[in-house]
Amino acid sequence: MHIKSIKELDIGPGDSVFIRCDFNVPLDEYGNITDDRRIRAALQTIRYCIDNECRIVLASHLGRPKGYDERYSLKPVAKRLHTLLKHDVIMAKDVVGEDAKAKFAALKPAEVLLLENLRFEPGETANDPEFAKKLSEFGQFYVNDAFGVSHRAHASVEAITRYYDKDHKAAGFLLLKEIKYLYKLLEHPTRPFLAIIGGSKVSSKLGALINLLPKVDKMIIGGGMAFTFLKAMGEEVGKSLVEEELVGEAKKILDEANRLGVKLYLPVDFVVAPEISEDAPVKFVTYKEIPKEWMGLDIGLASTRLFREALNDVQTILWNGPMGVFEIDKFARGSIKLANYVAESYATKIIGGGDTASLIAKAGVDDEMTFISTGGGASLELLEGKELPGIKALMVEDEE
Ligand code: AMP
Repeated sequence: MHIKSIKELDIGPGDSVFIRCDFNVPLDEYGNITDDRRIRAALQTIRYCIDNECRIVLASHLGRPKGYDERYSLKPVAKRLHTLLKHDVIMAKDVVGEDAKAKFAALKPAEVLLLENLRFEPGETANDPEFAKKLSEFGQFYVNDAFGVSHRAHASVEAITRYYDKDHKAAGFLLLKEIKYLYKLLEHPTRPFLAIIGGSKVSSKLGALINLLPKVDKMIIGGGMAFTFLKAMGEEVGKSLVEEELVGEAKKILDEANRLGVKLYLPVDFVVAPEISEDAPVKFVTYKEIPKEWMGLDIGLASTRLFREALNDVQTILWNGPMGVFEIDKFARGSIKLANYVAESYATKIIGGGDTASLIAKAGVDDEMTFISTGGGASLELLEGKELPGIKALMVEDEE
């Protein structure tokens, strides 16, 4: 079984192509797009179809509206897409209604039509075959380029593929890149392979930690989750984030790392504060000195130096989760320092997860990374070793 690339589809002038994109971009309170990376990431596939003079229909969800809700309209996306593509984008007023159908019927080769937010229709999240059939009427060919939703069995990702045979469905360039870097990385990493896992909780990354441990040579654990591990080692961590119910699980991971010969690194010092706030006083302490009423909110200087040493000889780096509360500048320095060290490394550098991507952008080292995944939840599920419904649905039999 394999997944076809859009390049293997026999598309030509006048053919209709339905592309499932991931335009789920953050908006501010005035409806302005605050980060258009996901739209930029979709351009290559759209341009390919324009160059092939296809009639192009784009579909995406945005946020989590329950039915029609003007605040979640894709109109701002249509505008930004127009600017980035330097090409007209026709906006439908609905998803599978009269307006979308009429605009599709009038669509000419190389024209682009964007449907309204897929989640205005309840059939999308219900993976409803009837709704999926209506969507499939917008394309002789189906292309999935929305890695960020490929872990969801939704109509535009899963059910719709049932209406296409092996010669009419494929992955777009972005999805192919995600598969190449994340799937294949886990199967055949160039060694030594280092995983840097951070973020708030052990609970949200437990599956990934367990799946990655036998595959890596080294693992750095930072962020809030490090404290559950320190607790498992018998340390006092003050008021730092600890998931008591997972202390046993953390102990097992430490033992397993030992048994497998994986070098596991934990922070050795912290930036601590009495509360998570911009104006909180801070202290710099070793892991033995966290005051009872204070919490660790970033890794300290000694930890970043230690982690830099760990980076020295590795050939592959996978990073998911920040080292501290990077949204607040005074707790962002550890993560940003580490981002700069990772940037300097000659290894293949893969960044997974929305928060880590924002952190890399904040550090200004996006261009130094080999690949930054666009899907938070989806990339985490891949790291957990799960099969993603949207990717499975694209699989076709190998040809003789
Ligand atoms: P995740 O979504 O699990 O990758 O976690 C990302 C979040 O973890 C970010 O919003 C950080 O602010 C938070 N975080 C990182 N380090 C800590 C920490 N030491 N204490 C509390 N929250 C943290």
